[in-house]
Amino acid sequence: MKKSLVLLVVLLAACEVDNGAADNEQVTNRGEGKDQWWTALPREVWAGFQKIEQSQNWFEVYEVAAGVYAIYEPGQFEEVISYLITGSNAALLFDTGLGIGDMGQLIGELTDLEVTVINSHTHYDHIGGNHGFKSILGVDTEYTRKRTAGLAHNEVDFAVGPGWIWKPVPVGFDPEEYAIEPYKVTRRVTDGERIILGADRQLEVILTPGHAPDALCLIDRKNRILFTGDTFYLAPLYTHLEGSDFDAYVTTAQRLAGLASDVDLLMPGHNEPAVAASYLPRLSAAFDEIVDNQADYIVTDGNREYAFGGFSIITTQR
Ligand SMILES: [Zn+2]
Repeated sequence: MKKSLVLLVVLLAACEVDNGAADNEQVTNRGEGKDQWWTALPREVWAGFQKIEQSQNWFEVYEVAAGVYAIYEPGQFEEVISYLITGSNAALLFDTGLGIGDMGQLIGELTDLEVTVINSHTHYDHIGGNHGFKSILGVDTEYTRKRTAGLAHNEVDFAVGPGWIWKPVPVGFDPEEYAIEPYKVTRRVTDGERIILGADRQLEVILTPGHAPDALCLIDRKNRILFTGDTFYLAPLYTHLEGSDFDAYVTTAQRLAGLASDVDLLMPGHNEPAVAASYLPRLSAAFDEIVDNQADYIVTDGNREYAFGGFSIITTQR
């Protein structure tokens, strides 16, 4: 099954590369029949970082800042990025990806340090490898608790369906059985909590509800980095999903704008790493424009998409 799926996808790509429909309409064309989003890859920014050797073709790993490794999954539409953040004494894994590659094995190849997992939020594309880890930090929300049960095949099968994957999937991975495995949160974290990885690095938890009820960012003040998860990336930001909260997102954006002078780089959960922190005040200003009815929008899939330079915000018709 998995071979025919991949072959079909590759054939479609080969046949339709030059049909002039190269624009990646990320929202309107989700799922079957979407355009060949992968023909725009690789994204240029990745070439600027050192690529780290490891044994799985599914992943690409880059050192995007000293001791910070972006784990990129460009083979699937989400282009999800997880981050291994290392300190002198321990390491933190910020998200575990789709669960298509073997994240546990990968991390074992990248570091000998003791590794703890924390998730930027618990949507399927960030918790897929959680089950391979013993130490997992989680926020104390109902949503987070529910998600530890995993997700059944019929809840996530779309994500490995036609149009979503172009790279060969790992040997042993069967799209017909794709599911998010259950896992255990071993310790609760709260806003402002510090995670100490050594004298060289500590991370502070900032709860950032909006995209998801249990969304969080991590700030590394010493190294001037903010790990943003899906709260900010250079693509359509989703405020309209089940569990999303537009008003909470507005407050979150204001709070993050207040951190803009404390960091230089943002490390987002999709597409591209190492984004300028100057986007933070722009994010907050963008939400303000929407709230004040000052922003233009187009309607896509029954939702409003407000475009700003480099990113957009999707809302329900409000
Ligand atoms: Zn995501």
